[in-house]
Amino acid sequence: MSDCLYCKGKLKPERVTRVQEYDGHWYIIENLPALVCEQCGEVYYTPDAHDRVIDLIQNGTQPIRLESVPVLDAS
Ligand SMILES: [Zn+2]
Repeated sequence: MSDCLYCKGKLKPERVTRVQEYDGHWYIIENLPALVCEQCGEVYYTPDAHDRVIDLIQNGTQPIRLESVPVLDAS
């Protein structure tokens, strides 16, 4: 993949932060390799990056820090 699906902009490799829900818990994964559109900022994850996220979670990787996440009610 070399062009953005939305705007046809160029994709460049970057390290991004991804938020992932898994088994009812939320995880923040920093420094994940991804492709980012230079034009619109859309982020594309490779299958490898997705596997890496699931690996990190399933292996019980020690967090580098803990964050509290605000939960908002829109009802
Ligand atoms: Zn784009």
